[in-house]
Amino acid sequence: MKWEGQRESDNVEDARGGGGGGGGGGGLPMLGGRGLGIGGIVVALLASWIFGVNPLTVLGLLDGSTVQTGGGPREVASTKPQDQPAKFVSVVLADTEDVWTQLFKAAGKTYQAPKLRLFTGREPTACGQGSAAMGPFYCPGDSKVYIDLSFYQTLRDRLGAPGDFAQAYVIAHEVGHHVQHLLGITQKVDAARRTQSERAANALSVRVELQADCFAGVWTHHSQQSKGWLEAGDVDEALNAAAQIGDDTLQRRAGGEVVPESFTHGTSEQRQRWFKRGMAQGDLRDCDTFSARQL
Ligand SMILES: [Zn+2]
Repeated sequence: MKWEGQRESDNVEDARGGGGGGGGGGGLPMLGGRGLGIGGIVVALLASWIFGVNPLTVLGLLDGSTVQTGGGPREVASTKPQDQPAKFVSVVLADTEDVWTQLFKAAGKTYQAPKLRLFTGREPTACGQGSAAMGPFYCPGDSKVYIDLSFYQTLRDRLGAPGDFAQAYVIAHEVGHHVQHLLGITQKVDAARRTQSERAANALSVRVELQADCFAGVWTHHSQQSKGWLEAGDVDEALNAAAQIGDDTLQRRAGGEVVPESFTHGTSEQRQRWFKRGMAQGDLRDCDTFSARQL
């Protein structure tokens, strides 16, 4: 991806370096809140590894729906980060702003860009305590994407998904959740989930996540059309990342059996297919995972 020298976003908040959550206290990640991450299972497995609790308990916590208030995030200076990894996500975020602003405009709507908050270790959010162990996530309560950039090492070294466009896909997926929030999809899904069994709620979560993958594909389509900055292998990097964080692959990697009822993000094959589907025409209407009979 030829990203150097491209516009950087004004919406990056750099809260790195503090670690420890700024006095937000300990506790489990996202207690009482809900984040929409790139890979729920890996999050749960990592969190359980760190906190020594049952992954399913963590997943249950992640599915809580009450937004926690209080202990809000620290204010940070809005100076632009100077290091390469932060510049990269800033450039990708800026391009998601350009693409989604256009797409919303074409639909007679106004796109309100999300903030992207860089943190290390732990970070209070409007959805509860965020943690690096959860992987990147989006919090609808404060319209922010949260990422500890060390996730990219995990993605490359532990999850087998190297490459800059794999990293871009992660941002585009989280921004996809923001788009769902703006379109009112998140709110509807949350309301439906409250009355559902865990199994049904998981199935709904899969539709949410596959749609975010599809939206990442929509972004890829328009981004490439306007900038032409993708290089050979870039799309394959994103597709590989989508496969490596599919629920079946993550469960197999964790050495457990594959339990489809517990899926929250979709299989590797589904994640790849919905990304490709969005990318094909760049048309949001191709991303209606909620009406799809076959996911
Ligand atoms: Zn997600």
